Amino acid sequence: MTPSRHTITAAAFAIIPIGYALAQAPQPRPEETEQWSPEPPVVTPGSAVPTPPPSDAIVLLGASGLGEWLSTKDKSPAKWRVEGPVMTVAKGTGNIETKRKFTSYQLHLEWRIPQGISGTGQGRGNSGLFLASTGGGDAGYELQILDSYRNKTYVNGQAGSVYKQYPPLANAMRRPGEWQSYDVVWIAPSFAADGTLKTPAYLTAFHNGVLIQNNVPLGGETTYIGKPQYKAHGPSSIKLQDHGDPSQPISFRNIWLRELTSPSVSIRSPK
Ligand code: MG
Repeated sequence: MTPSRHTITAAAFAIIPIGYALAQAPQPRPEETEQWSPEPPVVTPGSAVPTPPPSDAIVLLGASGLGEWLSTKDKSPAKWRVEGPVMTVAKGTGNIETKRKFTSYQLHLEWRIPQGISGTGQGRGNSGLFLASTGGGDAGYELQILDSYRNKTYVNGQAGSVYKQYPPLANAMRRPGEWQSYDVVWIAPSFAADGTLKTPAYLTAFHNGVLIQNNVPLGGETTYIGKPQYKAHGPSSIKLQDHGDPSQPISFRNIWLRELTSPSVSIRSPK
């Protein structure tokens, strides 16, 4: 059927107000997903003790430098600085990720905010541990790394938060210049053959030995603006963030991982 001129004109008038309304609709803003209270209690952790890798761990950062890491943007060798066992973000070179891909795992990672760090809020020692990198840039699921020692920001963006999803249960920061540790249990999400979500990702995390995330189900991948969403993926790299904030670069050491081939716990009655 060929539409008459009258029909076309009527349709055009019907569309114009919708287009006008869309143009006027407020755009989602990053502030809409910030949570500022309640503030997690401040807990002073015990003294820093390095946790060397157990016998079955894959060492991702030890004495062998950057051998396990690639630049996220072009998969070339990672360009962050290495001095002995310590790796420091080379600002502007971009995120780095593991050559190996993982599903569910236990991870240990140590990080240090430089003494004399400057900046405020999110612009103060910002990095991030992406538990699964699902693409370039910051695609994936971010456990926030930040200087949250007497540095106020939105609580679902402070150190130990699942960024814009879960504030940490406690603020267990050591002061700048001291080594911090994350110990993480990551249960990867699973997807049906058609790409729909079967089971969400679950995260448990300790900061300096203090429980900060207790088996939380993730709503999807981290987003700066809007709600998290899942998209299907398989085994993934682990990624560290070169955030681009103007403060001094942070450092890492002693990163190791144990793969969990049977992450589900089955509790059996004693015989
Ligand atoms: Mg970050």
